[in-house]
Amino acid sequence: MKCGLEIHVQLDTDSKLFCDCPTNYQDAPPNKNICFVCLNQPGAKPYPPNKKALDGAIKIALMLACKINPDVTFFQRKHYDYPDLSSGYQKTSIPIGFEGDLNGVRIREVHVEEDPGQYKPDLGLVDFNRSGIPLIEIVTEPDMRSPEEARKFLRELIRVLEYSESARGEGTMRADVNISIEGGKRAEIKNVNSIKGAYKALQFEMVRQKNLLKRGIEIKQETRAFLESQMITVPMRLKEEADDYRYIPDPDLPPMLADEERVEYIREEMPEPAHIKTDRFVKQYGIKKDDAQVLTSELELADAFEEVVKEVDPEFAALWMRDELKRILSFNKITYKESEITSAQLVEFFKLLLDKKITTKAGQRIIENLPHNPKSPTLIAEDLGLIGVVEEDVVQQAVKQSIEENPEAVSDYYQGKKKALNFLMGQVMRITQGKADPGDIIKLLKGELDK
Ligand SMILES: [Zn+2]
Repeated sequence: MKCGLEIHVQLDTDSKLFCDCPTNYQDAPPNKNICFVCLNQPGAKPYPPNKKALDGAIKIALMLACKINPDVTFFQRKHYDYPDLSSGYQKTSIPIGFEGDLNGVRIREVHVEEDPGQYKPDLGLVDFNRSGIPLIEIVTEPDMRSPEEARKFLRELIRVLEYSESARGEGTMRADVNISIEGGKRAEIKNVNSIKGAYKALQFEMVRQKNLLKRGIEIKQETRAFLESQMITVPMRLKEEADDYRYIPDPDLPPMLADEERVEYIREEMPEPAHIKTDRFVKQYGIKKDDAQVLTSELELADAFEEVVKEVDPEFAALWMRDELKRILSFNKITYKESEITSAQLVEFFKLLLDKKITTKAGQRIIENLPHNPKSPTLIAEDLGLIGVVEEDVVQQAVKQSIEENPEAVSDYYQGKKKALNFLMGQVMRITQGKADPGDIIKLLKGELDK
């Protein structure tokens, strides 16, 4: 199969694309965030496009390794007739970026357009709060070969969007999924609203199309809708061609030059995309790719790692941050940023471990106490009485030593004298300076003696 995606996500701005209405449409009562402009009342002219939205789109295009259109960005009118669109056309820009790449999937183009309102066909009601919110649309080439590849791509794309801090997340995603299999025509699936949805829609469509071909039935070029509740696709209409939209340049919106200086400024300021950071972590710090992927799952976590490894061995830090830190973050259902753990706390914590001032087990308990806690890890360890407890291998060593040095007690033990065990434990306590757990010592002693 071949699969291409068109992904729409809202850009994160305070006001709409062509007016000053706020964009917090979910918190507002219906039809509250509206004005003459975003209702497209006769005679109301759009304001110049929201600069933050355009800059955000340029940033995302750059992070997707796109070339930036050097000439003009102008908006076109894409005509279609539906109750969610009061003007009868959607203002959509020509590509801002093109010919990009994300992990081997080619990005055909990136552009900006306005979100339509929300239409509820069953009630016949329209809420225009969403109308005019800036959307970024990212169009890929048909480079994905399986539902799994499409899912992987979308996960990576959402990471790019999160890193950009210019777009809202998967929650505002709407995707169109194109799929064709050998011997058939292309079907476009609409209404896909999540990564899981895209995966399920592709799986369903792949099986449906294969079965048609098997039975010798022609696959038409058509648009289908994904029904999320049932995880199936149903016919919507025969595919419209670009001509059907009767694109014309919008005479209300003057063309704009994408000023080279501005693009360069954004390029310098933009964060390194996660997939590129992952490869760099592997090369620069010699850590495993799996570890690097986990560490770059969140920008703040990746930044903290880079701070920590200025003072701590990268492999050691990667292991702890990937396993134990991620464990407590997911247990608490928080991001690293939300945990308020500082890289200074992590450095101090790792040094306690590396200097063997605390055991691995103690470390697991201390790290559980780090979220939302400004205290130093040393203080936390002291409060929990975990400083200076010795590692199991040290205790094991002391156990062996006490057995070797006290053959009489050992032979007493074999003759069934219980006191001998207590004597040997006392010896271990002496060697470890009282910092081993008595229960552990008994266990280890018995293990050694009963071999
Ligand atoms: Zn408005």
